[in-house]
Amino acid sequence: MQTHFTADQLADPKIREADDILRKCVHCGFCTATCPTFVITGDERDSPRGRIWMMRELLESPDSISADTGHHIDRCLGCLSCMTTCPSGVDYAHLVEIGREKLDELVPRPLGDRLLRRLLAATIPHAARFHALLWLARVGRPFVPFMPAQMRAALAKLPTRIPPLDPVGANTHSYPPTQQINSDSNNKSKLQASHNKIRRVALLAGCAQRALDPEINASTIRVLNRLGIEVVVRSEAHCCGALAHHIGETEAADKSVRQALRAWQDEIKNGGLDAIVVNASGCGTMVKDYGHLLKDDRELGHLATQISAMTMDISQLLAEIGINSIIEPAPDGGRPELAYHSACSLQHGQKIHDLPQQLLRSAGFTVTQPVNPHLCCGSAGVYNILQPHMADGLRTRKLDSLRKTGAIAVAAGNIGCISQLDEDALPVRHTVQFIDWASGGPSPL
Ligand code: SF4
Ligand code: SF4
Repeated sequence: MQTHFTADQLADPKIREADDILRKCVHCGFCTATCPTFVITGDERDSPRGRIWMMRELLESPDSISADTGHHIDRCLGCLSCMTTCPSGVDYAHLVEIGREKLDELVPRPLGDRLLRRLLAATIPHAARFHALLWLARVGRPFVPFMPAQMRAALAKLPTRIPPLDPVGANTHSYPPTQQINSDSNNKSKLQASHNKIRRVALLAGCAQRALDPEINASTIRVLNRLGIEVVVRSEAHCCGALAHHIGETEAADKSVRQALRAWQDEIKNGGLDAIVVNASGCGTMVKDYGHLLKDDRELGHLATQISAMTMDISQLLAEIGINSIIEPAPDGGRPELAYHSACSLQHGQKIHDLPQQLLRSAGFTVTQPVNPHLCCGSAGVYNILQPHMADGLRTRKLDSLRKTGAIAVAAGNIGCISQLDEDALPVRHTVQFIDWASGGPSPL
């Protein structure tokens, strides 16, 4: 794509970066067919190619942006399916970040939208606050009809089943390989004589995940402990910053990123770390991008690159170590058939798609895939709160395709997708919970 930035504009490093990205786009349109919002609306302005065109306009000629620009860019899920499809290697992820930042500068959001974003950034990244909000929302349901429409839509997305708050991550704690936690207390002699080079990892306990499903961290720690790995959790690294970053709350995001980096730096200095392990793929994509995010930061830029390079999704880590040594014999009749839902942040953001399925198969499960596995379920961080209509349409399509697999449950690697899709008739659980089950942990179903 041709661009016509002035020399003054190109003096801004962000515009220079955007210019490099824009020039790679040859406008072929291959990405449109795999873009979930284009699939729903059929409108070119809801496609990656259309959005790239609009972002070039808003960055090059800010005066000429139309009222529709923000609407269509806001409707982008950030799923990055377009990046998987693009033959020219267009870095849409970083372009849309620059575009959104510029848009927020040029067109201030309505007050209600700003307040909602501020509220989301002030609650969801803090597990205890988010957990309290879930309870408040439950108690306050009778008053919902009297609330503004956007608030009503947001509350409708909050789950009604509220588990206890996950204790993992509340305090800094180390889980050595000999220590089994929670419901695994009956599980004897699970510690394996592991000879792998990974001995000690830091687990990002997460924020929303701790309020929504405490079993994911418990399963992760049990499985890693069985493999002979010590797991350390730092309370300061309580949030990766992704949620705030993606809704333009940059100050809050920056604070979370720096806190996590410093905490892990401490661990590297004190006990040494072989990896940072993340079990929510939306967070993993963010931590793997810290190096890029802080590339010009003199103080933490180098550390951010180091941390990004050390970060692994739990499926990557388990595949590298191998899980065969801990898998127990399947019960009579075998293990159930699962459908695998490939979270966008895992398959497009981190290019991990087959690995979790291979792990589940080697744990004895039969694994099927829904049609159109590349399409987003509509969760996308807080997209389902900010864009409920589009998110509902995508959820319905995804649920239809998952039900048609005939599986009895769904495995996924991201808490956002799990909350978006989970229903009584077809439970959705984290991949690591099924591996935990097959290696002696509790049934997640
Ligand atoms: S597939 Fe890539 S090069 Fe083609 S229009 Fe989309 S972003 Fe541009
Ligand atoms: S990130 Fe997803 S929703 Fe946004 S343009 Fe790309 S494919 Fe479409």
